[in-house]
Amino acid sequence: MFKRIFIANRGEIAVRIIRACRELGIESVSAYSTADKNSIHTKLSDKSICIGSSPPAKSYLNIDNIITAAKVTGCDAIHPGYGFLAENSRFVDICNQNNLIFIGPPAEVISLAGNKSKAIEVMKRNKIPVIPGSSGNVNRIKTALKLSRRLGYPVIIKASFGGGGKGMRICNDKKDLIAHLPLAKSESESSFGNGEVYIEKYIPKPRHIEFQIIADNYGNTVCVGERECSIQRRHQKLIEEAPAVNLPIKTSRLMREFALRAARAVNYKNLGTIEFLLDGQNNFYFIEINTRIQVEHPVTEMVTGIDLVKEQIRIAYGQKIDNLRENYKPLGHSIEFRINAEDPDNDFRPCPGKITESFLPGGPGVRVDTFISPNCEVSPFYDSLIAKLIVWDSTREEAILRSIRALDEFRIEGIKTTIPFYKKIIKNKNFISGNIHTHFIEEEIK
Ligand code: ADP
Repeated sequence: MFKRIFIANRGEIAVRIIRACRELGIESVSAYSTADKNSIHTKLSDKSICIGSSPPAKSYLNIDNIITAAKVTGCDAIHPGYGFLAENSRFVDICNQNNLIFIGPPAEVISLAGNKSKAIEVMKRNKIPVIPGSSGNVNRIKTALKLSRRLGYPVIIKASFGGGGKGMRICNDKKDLIAHLPLAKSESESSFGNGEVYIEKYIPKPRHIEFQIIADNYGNTVCVGERECSIQRRHQKLIEEAPAVNLPIKTSRLMREFALRAARAVNYKNLGTIEFLLDGQNNFYFIEINTRIQVEHPVTEMVTGIDLVKEQIRIAYGQKIDNLRENYKPLGHSIEFRINAEDPDNDFRPCPGKITESFLPGGPGVRVDTFISPNCEVSPFYDSLIAKLIVWDSTREEAILRSIRALDEFRIEGIKTTIPFYKKIIKNKNFISGNIHTHFIEEEIK
């Protein structure tokens, strides 16, 4: 097994990886920026090393500093977590050149999945349902207009290299399309370093359902179930559940088959997620592959008992996954709440600052993945996710009741968080009955 793993990340996911390393008997070295000098991940790991100043470009995205730090601390592998360098194929190549094993899929897979319009073309060729749209990227307004007329409005312009729910524009008519296409291209260029965009039919009120894939280096690929990620705000996930809510067994089975086919089509290795949208008639469409551990991975862990981070590490080391059952059955129900340092009463404006007091919920079926503690600083330099509350119980109804209890116990003082907002959602009639879709929040929560 690996002797020492370098963690090229911060916050809750760094803590999560340290825990997996410890349980596997592997030493961990955590990277930190000057802003994170006193962050809990630097204290929990066996060793920690400064990789630069606070702006991400100077530290967590600084490939030279990270590689040097991993080498001088004698690490044999790098875990990228999510975000930062997790889906950067150039980083994977550089790790390989430096004899550091990247804990994730090979560079070719990351690079294919990162080009979303190209990945969609591969899926089409493999007869996996995709949303009607452009074949590849769209550059000219004339082509975009012709295609959108054929698809019928509304359509959505998406950044080929986009992510995190950013860089999407909905066009309700020809006028919108003419106005948005050049803006979408220049926005994509500035946010993702590439201005390519593609067009899809816009599906009204879909559900977002994704499947967890685990694949080893020997051609064994399994799917360990799905997650419901339909509770979103501006296309960003806020609450996730496993299994998906009221999903007919037939649909779930079929989607799982296609998820496996998608993973095999790109020769997937390590952990990955195949994302689909599901429309009101239970038709589903592939949207993208995510080549990293997902923020929402704990809900799958809670209902399967599989430690996904340990699986990533074991697979990267070269172990087989024959201990995993292909036809797993989820046990119970799990719900995750992303606790963000944001002010829900002020358009979710980020709220960095000092946490003066905190109390984390506990008790049966309650897990909190976090890096916060009383007197810690939430830095303005990084994303606003400060904790994940993950609740499990034997049914969805009970998991909801347990979530109400856990959200009530959760105390964070000194900064605003999304906790009060979740207290509203969890008591909403339509949420409770499972009547959810990606526009639930704007329609239901005032
Ligand atoms: P990203 O990689 O930025 O997360 P995705 O392609 O995964 O982008 O889409 C994120 C979310 O955007 C989806 O969960 C859904 O809410 C919305 N979305 C994306 N494509 C469509 C579409 N064609 N119709 C309706 N909603 C869409």
